[in-house]
Amino acid sequence: MDEETRHLTGPADERLMCASCGRSADDATAPATWVCSVESGRHQYLCDVCARTHLRAIEGRLDSDWW
Ligand SMILES: [Zn+2]
Repeated sequence: MDEETRHLTGPADERLMCASCGRSADDATAPATWVCSVESGRHQYLCDVCARTHLRAIEGRLDSDWW
């Protein structure tokens, strides 16, 4: 069994991906319009569309230092 072949289920290697809709960024660096949050020690990114959609949920779960 080749463990090296299961990289599809591993963490994103280069491109960032929206944690909500799965849209991938063009670069390894998130666009300025994307939102980054840290949950349980993991970085999660939301694209500009999802960030606006989930803004209320995000505000309710994060402390004021988010801004
Ligand atoms: Zn999205």
